[in-house]
Amino acid sequence: MQFIDLKAQYTALKTKIDEKIEEVMNHGQYIMGREVGELEEALADYVGTKHVITCANGTDALQMLFMAYGIKKGDAVFCPDVTFIASIEPACVLGATPVFCDITTDTYNLSPESLERQILSVKREGKYNPKAVVAVDFLGNPADYVQIEMICRHYNLILIEDAAQGFGAECNGIKCGAFGNAATTSFFPAKPLGCYGDGGAVFTSDDEVADVCKSIRVHGKGTSKYDNRRIGMNSRLDTLQAAILLVKFEALIQYEIEERQKVAQYYNKALQGKFITPFVKDEYTSVYAQYALLAESKSQRDGVIEKLNSAGIPNMIYYPTPMHRLPVFAQMENYGEAYVNAEQYCSRTVSLPMHPYLSKQEQDYIIEIVL
Ligand SMILES: *Cc1c(COP(=O)(O)O)cnc(C)c1O
Repeated sequence: MQFIDLKAQYTALKTKIDEKIEEVMNHGQYIMGREVGELEEALADYVGTKHVITCANGTDALQMLFMAYGIKKGDAVFCPDVTFIASIEPACVLGATPVFCDITTDTYNLSPESLERQILSVKREGKYNPKAVVAVDFLGNPADYVQIEMICRHYNLILIEDAAQGFGAECNGIKCGAFGNAATTSFFPAKPLGCYGDGGAVFTSDDEVADVCKSIRVHGKGTSKYDNRRIGMNSRLDTLQAAILLVKFEALIQYEIEERQKVAQYYNKALQGKFITPFVKDEYTSVYAQYALLAESKSQRDGVIEKLNSAGIPNMIYYPTPMHRLPVFAQMENYGEAYVNAEQYCSRTVSLPMHPYLSKQEQDYIIEIVL
């Protein structure tokens, strides 16, 4: 059994993927070939933003945005205490100070209350300039954009949506990737929309930000690669990966999102009452990048993991350590935040196999072992 069965997906899509790969091999435009533009157009059309700028990975996508917004030393950038480090790492590379906020107890996303408390604390201290917020669609479940957008507007902060796990989900009829001033996603193989290597993208409807990101993507280019206007990066999406993504994107929107939701509902039905199952708000959908259970206690969670391991069922903890306790951030100022929800979540969560090709028989077996 696979945690995420990319082989089953390849088997289902093999003819189309192989055909697309062969087309690229024949036309030979390995860098910025036509498939890159086709993918950007298809994604923009789906998400509903004016621009999509693909790039080498989801971390670079965030870095390009942080650079485009001029994030620098002295700036405070707020993000949830439970996420992958890539949500904030590029801001740190640029010299900014990360400020971690607690999560909510329902969707485990950035807590608007904690965010506002942290913004006020940073302002009161006066050492750093509150500049931007990174909201993450945690495990494929959209953050509370109604509240978070209001707070960002009130305190004049840039809002960036990290939709690395959320591509394909939506909230109030708006697709993930369309929230905030700009958004990013990742095409790492294990993400809801993944390629066969690294890839990422920036989403925005802001013409200027889009232009700057396109420049940053190719060494700060102007009219040409040798007319450099700013310090940039080398962060393009390979044509081969774009070609593969064109096929996978079609499958995702045609049936994979729905299959993911069916798998989640099947787990929910069997496990509700015994564990806290994923909660999705009204008017929201989740793309279930992961299916995470919350146990009653750490010892119950650890017991489940032991049973899964002995039965040979792959499982993961997303994430074992809250950001504020990672060795790299342990010395950061917490502004009095105790991260009660983040600590509880990390000590009690476990993720089960989740992908659109998981069979009912496999699920029945997993459920039997978990119970
Ligand atoms: C995967 C991930 C990223 C980074 O994506 P890469 O393509 O691996 O650089 C950023 N944020 C979150 C929340 C992620 O899960």
